[in-house]
Amino acid sequence: MSWFSSTTEPPPHFQTPLPPASTDIPHFDDQLYAYLHNSPYTHHYDLPLSGDLVADVIWKLNSRLCAGAPSPDFVFGSPTIPSVLTREGEQVPLPEDDDQADNMDLDARVTLGPEYQESQRGRTCGRVFRKGEAVYRCRQCAVDETCVLCSTCFHAANHEGHETFFTLASGSAGCCDCNDPEAWKTDLMCKYHSHAYVPPGSPSMPQTETPLPPSLVESIRATVSTALDFIIDTLTDSPSKLSLPVSAAHAALSGADLPEACEMRATPASAAPRYYLALVLWNDEAHSFSEVIGQVQDALNVVSDDARMVAETVDFHGRQVLKVSPDVVELLRIARIISHIGLTVSMRSARETFREEVAGILIDWLRDVTKLLVGSQVIDGVRYESVDGVVRQMICDELFSPPRKFKRVLSQRLVDNPDAELSSTIRQADIAQLPVDESAERETKLRVDHMILSDIKMWKQARNALRGLFVKTMIVGGEESKKRMALRFGHSYLQIITNFLLHDREPELSVVSFSVQLFTVPSIGNYLATKTNLLLTMFSVMKAFYLSEVLPERFPLKNFSLATRNAQEWVCDRYPKLTCDSEAAKSKRYWQLFQEFRYLLMAHRHVGETESAFAESKGTLDAFLDLLRVWQSMHPQTRYTRQHIEYEQENWIQAFNLSLQLGKLLAMVAECIQSKPEPGNPCQEAIKTISVLDAWSAAEEKEEVTKVLRQQGHAAGVGVNMNQRVPSEDGFHTVEFIEGKPVRVPFFNVASQAVSFHHPLQWFLAYQIGSMLDAPWNFPNGRTILEHIFAGSSQQGADTKLVCRMMEGPLQTTVLLSQIRAGAWVRNGLTPRAQVTHYRSTIREHYDQDLFLLQAYLCLVGPDLWLNALLDRYDLAQWFKGDPRACALISGLEDAQIGFLAEDFLELLITLFGERSRINGLSPSLELRREIVHYLAVGGPYGITYSDLSSRLLERLVSSAQDVDQILEIVADFKYPEGTHDSGVYLLKSECWTEVDPWFWHYDKNQREQVEVHLKEKYKNHPGNWWVPKPPPIHNTATGFARLDLMVQSEVFIHIAFFAIWNTFFGLVQSTFVINEAVHILALALATEKQVDESNSGVYAFSLLVDQVAIAVPGSTKRLTLLQLLLEVLDPEHDDDDLKEPLRRIEWIVEQLGERGGATAAATLRTWKAGGGAKAEKSVAKAEVNVQKRLDAKAAAAARKAAIMAEFAQAQKKFSEENPFEVSDTEDGAPSHGNGASGQGEGWDIDDEDGDAAMEVIDTSGGVAERTQLWDFPSDTCIFCQEETADGTETYGILGFAQPSTVLRSAEVGHELVPSYLRADEEVGLYMSSCGHLMHLTCFHSYYASIRTRHETQDDRSQPENIDRNEFLCPLCKTLGNCFIPVLWTAKEERVVPIREPATVEEWWTAGLGDFATALIHGELGEEEEGEIHEKFSSVVTPHRRRDPPGGPPAAQDPSILYRRLTRTLIAALGPKPHDLHIEGMIEMRHAISYTVRCLEVIARDRSVEGSEAPITDHIPANSLTLLRVLSEGLLTCAAADLRNNSESETRLEERGQELVWSIFAGVMEGEVETVPLMPFLMMDGIDGLGEVLYGVEIMKGGAASFWEWTSVFYLREIVAALVNVVEAVGFRGMEIDAERGKGQVDEEWSAFFCDLGTLLNLEPGVIESVLARTGVAHLKWIVDTCVLGFMRQCVLLGWARAGLVFDDAGLPPGTLEAERLRRQLRLPTVDEICNSRTLRSESFLRRLIEGWCLQLHDLDPAYWACKGHPSLPRLAPDGSVTASPADSATAAAADRYVVPNSPLYVATCTVRVPRLIALPHRLEKLFEDSIRKVCKRCRTIPTDPALCLICGTFVCSQSYCCQEEDKGECHIHAGTCGGEVGIYFIVKKCVIYLMHNENGCFIHPPYLDAHGEVDVGLRRGRPQFLNHKRYDELNRTWLTHGIPSFVARKIESTYDVGGWMTL
Ligand SMILES: [Zn+2]
Ligand SMILES: [Zn+2]
Ligand SMILES: [Zn+2]
Ligand SMILES: [Zn+2]
Ligand SMILES: [Zn+2]
Ligand SMILES: [Zn+2]
Ligand SMILES: [Zn+2]
Ligand SMILES: [Zn+2]
Repeated sequence: MSWFSSTTEPPPHFQTPLPPASTDIPHFDDQLYAYLHNSPYTHHYDLPLSGDLVADVIWKLNSRLCAGAPSPDFVFGSPTIPSVLTREGEQVPLPEDDDQADNMDLDARVTLGPEYQESQRGRTCGRVFRKGEAVYRCRQCAVDETCVLCSTCFHAANHEGHETFFTLASGSAGCCDCNDPEAWKTDLMCKYHSHAYVPPGSPSMPQTETPLPPSLVESIRATVSTALDFIIDTLTDSPSKLSLPVSAAHAALSGADLPEACEMRATPASAAPRYYLALVLWNDEAHSFSEVIGQVQDALNVVSDDARMVAETVDFHGRQVLKVSPDVVELLRIARIISHIGLTVSMRSARETFREEVAGILIDWLRDVTKLLVGSQVIDGVRYESVDGVVRQMICDELFSPPRKFKRVLSQRLVDNPDAELSSTIRQADIAQLPVDESAERETKLRVDHMILSDIKMWKQARNALRGLFVKTMIVGGEESKKRMALRFGHSYLQIITNFLLHDREPELSVVSFSVQLFTVPSIGNYLATKTNLLLTMFSVMKAFYLSEVLPERFPLKNFSLATRNAQEWVCDRYPKLTCDSEAAKSKRYWQLFQEFRYLLMAHRHVGETESAFAESKGTLDAFLDLLRVWQSMHPQTRYTRQHIEYEQENWIQAFNLSLQLGKLLAMVAECIQSKPEPGNPCQEAIKTISVLDAWSAAEEKEEVTKVLRQQGHAAGVGVNMNQRVPSEDGFHTVEFIEGKPVRVPFFNVASQAVSFHHPLQWFLAYQIGSMLDAPWNFPNGRTILEHIFAGSSQQGADTKLVCRMMEGPLQTTVLLSQIRAGAWVRNGLTPRAQVTHYRSTIREHYDQDLFLLQAYLCLVGPDLWLNALLDRYDLAQWFKGDPRACALISGLEDAQIGFLAEDFLELLITLFGERSRINGLSPSLELRREIVHYLAVGGPYGITYSDLSSRLLERLVSSAQDVDQILEIVADFKYPEGTHDSGVYLLKSECWTEVDPWFWHYDKNQREQVEVHLKEKYKNHPGNWWVPKPPPIHNTATGFARLDLMVQSEVFIHIAFFAIWNTFFGLVQSTFVINEAVHILALALATEKQVDESNSGVYAFSLLVDQVAIAVPGSTKRLTLLQLLLEVLDPEHDDDDLKEPLRRIEWIVEQLGERGGATAAATLRTWKAGGGAKAEKSVAKAEVNVQKRLDAKAAAAARKAAIMAEFAQAQKKFSEENPFEVSDTEDGAPSHGNGASGQGEGWDIDDEDGDAAMEVIDTSGGVAERTQLWDFPSDTCIFCQEETADGTETYGILGFAQPSTVLRSAEVGHELVPSYLRADEEVGLYMSSCGHLMHLTCFHSYYASIRTRHETQDDRSQPENIDRNEFLCPLCKTLGNCFIPVLWTAKEERVVPIREPATVEEWWTAGLGDFATALIHGELGEEEEGEIHEKFSSVVTPHRRRDPPGGPPAAQDPSILYRRLTRTLIAALGPKPHDLHIEGMIEMRHAISYTVRCLEVIARDRSVEGSEAPITDHIPANSLTLLRVLSEGLLTCAAADLRNNSESETRLEERGQELVWSIFAGVMEGEVETVPLMPFLMMDGIDGLGEVLYGVEIMKGGAASFWEWTSVFYLREIVAALVNVVEAVGFRGMEIDAERGKGQVDEEWSAFFCDLGTLLNLEPGVIESVLARTGVAHLKWIVDTCVLGFMRQCVLLGWARAGLVFDDAGLPPGTLEAERLRRQLRLPTVDEICNSRTLRSESFLRRLIEGWCLQLHDLDPAYWACKGHPSLPRLAPDGSVTASPADSATAAAADRYVVPNSPLYVATCTVRVPRLIALPHRLEKLFEDSIRKVCKRCRTIPTDPALCLICGTFVCSQSYCCQEEDKGECHIHAGTCGGEVGIYFIVKKCVIYLMHNENGCFIHPPYLDAHGEVDVGLRRGRPQFLNHKRYDELNRTWLTHGIPSFVARKIESTYDVGGWMTL
């Protein structure tokens, strides 16, 4: 049989059962195996696998699995055998009915994962967290902070009242600990996992379980093991490195892929044999979808949809077969194109590729099959074991068995006998025949080992499935299988980690991440650490990995197993220093090793009472120390002295990262060693460290000395004075600071030799010493701990030389820090400073270790040698001999730099002497408290935020946030943020200030100064010696650290103190720092000294020295003691402000010395006091010197202060950048129009009754007379040229912004209120706004030109404005704009109208409206001559001008030209759509005015106080009012101009007017008129229609304003429309209403009116009564009143803008409600006068009018109005009583009657309530929970990065490929149908608000704050967060006032934005 010759398809094999197994091999299904093996042939290499094949494979597996069962039912719970798997993360189908809410709740739909099935009860949940999944913690329930819960388990247990946290899983590591007894304090009673949980109402089950039938167990076992064998057989042959053959010839020759014979058969026989190959494209994270699509399209020549499919599969599946073909040349051609952009492609035999894919299905099946199986079941009263449990256990067991190999049997058979049928039987004998495979026999690997090692060969989906399989079997399977897994993992560890470090293309998918599951379990981790070689393996991997950089021959990465072997075998005292420059060091993958090491140590530490992992016998400590040697002194640096560095490298970052990782380890190892001491020689581990360190230091020094000696030869040639600096052979040299007392110290010069920050051996030693200090050891000879460990076995005690050499590392580092800060390393570029910062912040704990070792140094060698060594290293000996100049000469540094060094040197002495927390073994909690108090003190009265504080605390001390919170409660007060931009802060409690030491060792200079200032302020009213230090005494003398106190009893020290003071006062050193430091160190000395000898009449050693050591004064033969010097200094002439405080302190010191010092001291003081306390005999020269010096010191202090201020300003800038909303002006609530600097408000002043506004009496008939006043249009200086605009010579205008707005519409969607609607016809409205700033037209043009230029020159930056949309930023206030609105007038005449009696519509009709309407409609209006309308009209709109410019007003030219830009912008802003071009842009302008009026009114509702009597205009920003008038006048002017210029305009205007008036008055018109009806009058927005009339029809009337008449008509309309809307909403759509409001009122009149309205609408009988019964009269009234109120408020605004009407309220009683006041002012009848039984029952005028409106509606869609009412409506009996409640009316009969209206009409009414952004939940996690259950409607998956639209509440996929359209992300797509051009999204997982406007966007802080009053952008801290209403309201206001576009534009403008927002 041949597979390629036949042209007809072979019969489908699908779902035909396999013959039963026919083998003698146990637990093997040879037919199944053969089926899988032959699948490539039977399916023609049809790759990618078809869905049918996948189904067939799964069906076959399932049918073999259940072959031994009585029926499939027994296994699958149904008679059919399933052929699909429910995979995790698969798409959820949406229901057919798309009318559902936008997002569905998935709770009920998604089947719970296998973790939550009944068979899991009693086990650990073990759900592996996917990236971004919610992870919960509970403080009350958890044992520690690492115990976490998945969302399902968290909600399946009760944590009410507990303090819970939630974060997002960061990666694939970590799993749910639910029901793990080691993790929780109590049984959580999880619904799914707890044994104790009994589901309510669960039936009782038989207790004992019967095992499954043996035949079934056997079929399960055979199927599982056969599947596993096939997977392993297949993957063993897969390559672990992807490769592409270089040539066609090479292609067929890869070992595993040799063709099986049948493949090579040629047809016809004469043709060349063909061998099919598959070309595969692999996933990576580097390329974008569009890149892949483009390349695939090019290479395969396919359409983009196909290419897109490929790209999507590659992303989802991990790889995709591009082409299967025998044509190698063609495949290589394709491969070359694809790989051109760096994509990975590989080529392999199609047959093997096919089998790999089949193996992938098998892994999926193994992982997910349990979901298909029944659990425990009861059949005929017998309770069986759960099938899924047995299968899971079986998979587990089989994984731990060795694999069997069958592939070669079948392959061989095909080779041997190509013409035979595919024979499938395999027997033992077949295997025996095969030649023995030697490599296979070498070691017994289990199946799981093979699977683990095959991981790297697989693709994304398979790797994920593999990890899932492991978790679901071995991790969840309980302690035993976890332990076995751990052992296997450890067994293969070297290979796993090698693959991960060096070979893995997608490391994030690596099986390595399992370590977290295994190593963190205490018993397992401890076992691995103590019983296996895992630690040693890790060390050798790390060693080989790093040393490959410097010793590549010995440690080749290419042969890593050789490298690791060498790492174990080859050990040196000192390795070449790492430069941290290699690829290996740059890779972050090594962090994995550090992390795993930490896991093991943590587990090890947790388990008490076991042998130490570092026991001598294991060699672990030796290996660890050896590893530290690798990193010792890495990344050494040398100072550039002559030229500047050329290229700064970043490799210092690698070194610091490494040290950071190390830091966490060193302390843990030291602690582990200490907590599990070995019997025998105490401290032997530390002694071992010392010997390693000693050997290293000796080797290091030897090399350095050789180098120096060689260099000195050169140096002598270039004139550097090296005479005094010659190291001897041992690397030491002699220094003689005090004459006659020379000492020998190591030779080193930081300024010229290579130094490193990193010395892990020393740090480790410091941790070791630190951990031993409180041990109760007694050492021979009464030695202290320090002496013991440094002496080692030597009887002599510590070897001074050894100590000095060893301590060089820390000492050099401190000197290096000082030099860099002093600016001596500037030629090395910027990186040294960055390193200093990181050394003292990121890896500060290492610095602490350095300081601790320096203290030990002092205690070991004594103060004299120690101080000498320090002075020598700092190169400051000369300075402290009183000769600063000489010091500079010798060191080659500048004076100022030396000064800095001296400051640092003294500071170091203070720290080393005063800091005793480590020495005294302060407990971590006390240490923590000390840290907290001191950082709070820095904040002083301003406090600091919680996160700021926690970022400063040492990680070592913060074992839990709980401790921090508890301490904070004691020492701090919390201040909650008050505004919208600040954060909550903590302030140090008053009583805790006594604990504050300004010389705290972790302060920097700035912090110290700040704290000093706060302290001074604090003690302002309590002068005293608060500054006197109180260092704690050192109690424990056994440690050896008590010798620290001896420092101040050294003669060297006295010298240092002496010259610190002398140099400042007499040696021209300009530093107040030095004097302060000197004073402080003297005070410290006094505070610590004890009486030398009790008997010696109270003499103190230090005080004695102060008076005894006589020091030679430079430039004089005199000798002074320190005491004498101090007295000298206390001279009244030292009145410099900077010195006052130090002098006061010196005075105190002197007094102390007098009391303590010996007799001579007392005598000296007596003499001094006798002389009046001060000496008067000062030389003039000296005084002059002092004056000069003080001036200099002052200048220096000022400079320093300036530097600090600059830094502060920088910080402030950063702060404000990070805090948004800084621009909004919350005062007037109009953030985008803020800035009242000029222009605004000037023109708007109706109270301005004096001035030139002449009062003119027009009408006296109605009591109060109507009068007129003048209103000024805005005029001011042009913000561009600063010239006045008022002189009238040039056209000017205001800058405005027209933006499409959906604010009014959006708010109503989904709100529960009646009427609530989304008007079908409603399009986006145009909202107009303005910042009020003025510009000349010409200035505007030049400004705009400059914007264009900028856009052209900066094309790499995203611009704040879009010139395609005519946008610009106001040059003054940066408000976004897009139109220039001309201001052509100076003043407008306003009419102040008094209250008059209302008139009815009918009265107006008969009084003239009727005549006009009739005339207009019948075309009889135009009896006048052509152009007469224009004549009449233009007189109305002539601009008032005070000073016309010479040559006539500019308006005399055609003003419509001026408006062209404006109108075009308006048209463009509404988007491309057909529009009425009658009068270009005028209709848009009209609509824009009405829409703006509506918006302004609705927004103002928020602001107007209930019962306020101020007119509506008072609640609207002045800018907006001014803009309305300017637009209104502009519109009229344009209309006038148009009528004049264009004869057709008049006709068009007339036609439009006819249509409108006809639709209004159709019911009352006589005779037939032919007009095309507009939309029904009731569907037109009231204000919009009124605007049409006032700006259009009115012109036909000749401009005489008939405001009152028209308003009354539209008032009536509003009432009727509101009621019709209720009919629609309640009657047709079943809208729920607020039942409470409708209760209890009866009003026959109203009811009658409403029911009559139903008749006019031709409703089905009974519908209107049902609506009334549901709604209730009171509710009806409320709706009407609300609509009418809004309408009237808008009328007032429109009347003001259009007709200049100012509504007087004189004559109204005070306290009149707003609605009543407005009604009277607008001269309207009451609602009750209209809504009564009379109105619609007679053939009245009103009835005819309203009937006309109703008819229009009805005729538009008669079928709609024939609706029989929503089924939920109550049914009424003929007598009007309710017969059926809605609940029981949900019958078939009721549903029958309901015909769904096909196209709903929505009658327009005034917006009922103020639009708001959607309500957000109080707790943030609620929002998060929602977000992970909502499906995106577009792609029907749960978004990976959900964004919540705050306008409508829809969840969309932000920045996700699934929902992108041409690089436009779903946020932007959704906005198109929601917010229009703006969008406001809560991007949930990032916890940030995204604001967008068109193509631009920005992120701002979310309105959620944690308990500490801080936002948490990115959910980094995971503390519970709560909605802050103030902040959310502000966001809401910004949106409502249309301020988002400007906000976004400003944000973009203020940063260098690169764009890309569209993809969100
Ligand atoms: Zn769980
Ligand atoms: Zn659970
Ligand atoms: Zn709890
Ligand atoms: Zn200008
Ligand atoms: Zn402005
Ligand atoms: Zn939306
Ligand atoms: Zn989506
Ligand atoms: Zn999507």
